[in-house]
Amino acid sequence: MNPPFLPFHLPGMGAEEIRAASEVLRSGWLTTGPKVRLFEKRFARYLGAAHAVALNSATAALHLALEAIGLKEGQEVLVPTMTFTATAEVVRYFKAIPVLVDCHPAAMTIDPGRAAAAITRRTRAIIPMHMAGHPCDMEPILALAKARGLRVIEDAAHAPPIRYKGRMAGTLGDIGCFSFHAVKPITTGGEGGMAVTSDPDIARRIRLMSLHGIGKDAWKRYAAGGSWRYEVVEAGYKYNMTDVAAAIGLVQLRKADAARRARARIARRYDEAFQEDPALEVPIVAPYARPSWHLYILRLRLDKLRIGRDEFIERLRALGIGANVHYIPLHMHPYYRRTLGCSEKDFPVASGLSRRIVSLPIYPAMADRDVRKVISAVSTALRRARR
Ligand SMILES: *Cc1c(COP(=O)(O)O)cnc(C)c1O
Repeated sequence: MNPPFLPFHLPGMGAEEIRAASEVLRSGWLTTGPKVRLFEKRFARYLGAAHAVALNSATAALHLALEAIGLKEGQEVLVPTMTFTATAEVVRYFKAIPVLVDCHPAAMTIDPGRAAAAITRRTRAIIPMHMAGHPCDMEPILALAKARGLRVIEDAAHAPPIRYKGRMAGTLGDIGCFSFHAVKPITTGGEGGMAVTSDPDIARRIRLMSLHGIGKDAWKRYAAGGSWRYEVVEAGYKYNMTDVAAAIGLVQLRKADAARRARARIARRYDEAFQEDPALEVPIVAPYARPSWHLYILRLRLDKLRIGRDEFIERLRALGIGANVHYIPLHMHPYYRRTLGCSEKDFPVASGLSRRIVSLPIYPAMADRDVRKVISAVSTALRRARR
């Protein structure tokens, strides 16, 4: 009989989340309302940020962040090639151009030197992404942005909590964008996001555009003290978070630090098991970094192996372990190849990494025996595969 399969991810939904969601479902107020406002307040306080606007995804947050800085057609935005497509697709919403940038060979975050070299007269912004929960080296990026007049929008979808020199990622640039999708460090029950900023005008603009461009707390028109009268002042979007989602998010936020500790413990176990293996490179932690450990990414030493990464993942699957790849770099996808005319040799670091990276399961719901099972599956998968 096959052993039970250990999935790559399981969301940590407990009795508290279910109770919080049920209370809202029974309350008579389902969509944006008091729970959303409370979640925004708590999330901002948790990060030490001035303003937080709850949305239905990080993609919505990235979109409204670019809208708030006034991105225009034909302008350019620097984005890492080693990321999920959401980081770059939002630039296309404006008929603007995502300029892909190669990454650091170990941290896999955007390379500030290469970013500097990619700046032109048309560059408006840079979107560093805190890959796998390891922060980008933000000081050179912020210095570059200041010197060249660029806006900095952090893709903090792999947070919270990620710390850079003690400060929370997502609060270091002009706007931070968080995801509460089912697989992210905290979830609002499937989909959700947050935009965070210290600039009250940006916060106001994002809030306005998140709900149809209706001025003055649009959601309140259904509340007791609210008025039926409203004014549409812009053509906005439908990106608001529901109170059901926010109620789940409030519970998850309370667990965020404990969840990070649980993931960090698993990462330590993996490090101990794999760091002496000549065929494996474990994740680095830079001196400035305190990662969220959203992902644990091994880099295979293909020169030491007779199998490739794909075969390695197949072997893990046969052994009952779900593994994954973060990411196939954007320049290797048909859409970006076709529209940007880029090729693998334009991004040698990310292209090389893309063939040898594997993400292992790392989430608080994993029991100790699950961690042991992953470790032993990795060693079994590498048996008779070494050079
Ligand atoms: C998940 C993710 C997003 C998108 O988040 P959604 O909430 O699903 O829109 C954006 N960027 C990165 C790096 C992600 O991992």
